[in-house]
Amino acid sequence: MADVIIIGGGAAGLMAGITAARQGASVVVLERMKEPGKKMMITGKGRCNITNACPMEEFIPNLPGNGKFLFSALQQFTNDDLLRFFQEQGLETVTERGGRVFPATGKAKDVIAVFRFALQKAGGRLVTGAQATGFTVKPGQVTGIRYRTVENDGRRDGQDFRSQTKGKMKLGPEHTLDAGAVIVCTGGASYPGTGSDGNFVPVLEMLGLSIEPLLPALVPLQPEEGFTEDLEGLQLKNVEASVLADGKVVAKEFGELQFIRGGIAGPICLTMSRKVARLQHYNQPELELSIDLKPALSDEKLEARLIRDFQEFSKLRLAEVVRKLLPQPLVESVLDTAFLVGKKQVSQVSKEERLALVQAVKHFTIPLMGTRPLAEAIVTAGGVALKEIDPKTMKSKRIAGLYFAGEVMDVDGYTGGFNLQAAFSSGYVAGLHAAKQVLNR
Ligand SMILES: Cc1cc2nc3c(=O)[nH]c(=O)nc-3n(C[C@H](O)[C@H](O)[C@H](O)COP(=O)(O)OP(=O)(O)OC[C@H]3O[C@@H](n4cnc5c(N)ncnc54)[C@H](O)[C@@H]3O)c2cc1C
Repeated sequence: MADVIIIGGGAAGLMAGITAARQGASVVVLERMKEPGKKMMITGKGRCNITNACPMEEFIPNLPGNGKFLFSALQQFTNDDLLRFFQEQGLETVTERGGRVFPATGKAKDVIAVFRFALQKAGGRLVTGAQATGFTVKPGQVTGIRYRTVENDGRRDGQDFRSQTKGKMKLGPEHTLDAGAVIVCTGGASYPGTGSDGNFVPVLEMLGLSIEPLLPALVPLQPEEGFTEDLEGLQLKNVEASVLADGKVVAKEFGELQFIRGGIAGPICLTMSRKVARLQHYNQPELELSIDLKPALSDEKLEARLIRDFQEFSKLRLAEVVRKLLPQPLVESVLDTAFLVGKKQVSQVSKEERLALVQAVKHFTIPLMGTRPLAEAIVTAGGVALKEIDPKTMKSKRIAGLYFAGEVMDVDGYTGGFNLQAAFSSGYVAGLHAAKQVLNR
């Protein structure tokens, strides 16, 4: 028996556990992997971008997936509260470009060590290698959990965290554990090798909870086959990219993107991916990515520049002059888009051909299949529907003794530390109110 059981030892679960234990509740944090915080370990490229230093009112616009729902939670536990928590534990932090906050040591493992230590110090128990498989219930109330020990988590050392664990884990016999309250912090379903793979969603559905479809957010876009293979490795800075659905612009971003194997990544594509994934799931329109390779130049200015270059380098071939404007890997693709031949001498290029080149540079268009799969996403959109949850306490509105926190809920944000702060704030609130409920305060 425990006052509060927390399912999932990630960012939200550890914070919930510490908060509930500090209230005086007996706490068990149950984590299916051998170690807690596997996903936190890989955040911020192993440096863990724990939060953002921007004013709290800027958090909600940076949580495009239902950020408003967290209005109260983000006030109950702010980014300053989080930094104070780390300071009290002796972990210094540094703020970098765009307000991104990291541990000063630059190591995610130091953040996890702080959480483990704080949980232990507050009297909370962390049980690893134990997977929650269900609840024990009374009508309208959760009274505890069912769990199985994990005999083998199905992973090899060094294996990519984007690879699935589903069906590979070996579980022991089932046990039950009673609780005054249960907080579900099982995360999303991206990077499933970290342990958060959506395994608990069917259990929540069986309890009668509504779940919004789990979709990727912050994930590379997926071009149609055969369109970007030659561009792999190319990074473009200061470009403007638009996503078109059935020919209409539905998202536009300025900044950096990168062609990777089978995808188009980089900050602006990650930001737009949320919308693409939703369109792909709900509407299936024809999708395209149109890149303005020279956003600082209007069509007229770009044409004027081409006229100048064509005069100055009249003896050169078209591909050589275009190379002065664009990175080498793009030259061929852009000329192909404009149906132009690179070998042609620029003095032979007609006005129509020049205008076609301007259009190809300003609207370099790649047909999209959609996004890369959920397993490759930084964050999951969808999860427990927010109509089920009281935003002030993170308590289930329909089932007594049940709380939620973190990515398992239908909330998601942009990169920059917003997702972890969302997990910490909601974890804090769930831990606080679950403990208060059980201890009758
Ligand atoms: C590559 C990558 C980089 C990222 N970088 C950043 C960043 O720098 N900054 C930022 O703000 N966000 C970042 N994120 C997002 C951030 O990591 C998540 O939003 C955050 O970890 C969510 O916290 P959570 O506690 O809800 O879920 P998780 O951290 O995923 O924790 C859930 C835990 O529950 C456990 N679990 C699942 N099912 C069960 C079960 N049935 N029984 C027991 N345990 C279970 C899992 O093993 C897991 O440990 C990144 C994500 C990825 C994938």
